Amino acid sequence: MPIYEYKCTSCGRIESILVQGYKSPDGMKCSACGSAELKRIISKVNYHLSGSDRLDSYDPNARQSESFLKDTRNIGLHAEHMLKKSGVKPTEEFKTRLEKLRTDPASVIKNSGDE
Ligand SMILES: [Zn+2]
Repeated sequence: MPIYEYKCTSCGRIESILVQGYKSPDGMKCSACGSAELKRIISKVNYHLSGSDRLDSYDPNARQSESFLKDTRNIGLHAEHMLKKSGVKPTEEFKTRLEKLRTDPASVIKNSGDE
């Protein structure tokens, strides 16, 4: 089932809404201001993508949405993309660090001064 993002035209809040079928569900309301004026936007983030699909669909020139930036699974996507583009294979250390950043960013930030 696809998840679409809708932008409230009144306050600008972005809602992620699970849509059954092609039509937008009736009675959608902005959870911030209650406005029903929601406009579907094309999301850069598809939550059903695997890691490599996510990487393939990543566009380094696109302005990423707030939800993209908040999704820790997207951390390091830019670095991964640049590596792939230049034909460099990411090292195991790079992958391990990335995985740690995505799953437990606080620990990485806390320990970054220890080396
Ligand atoms: Zn709103």
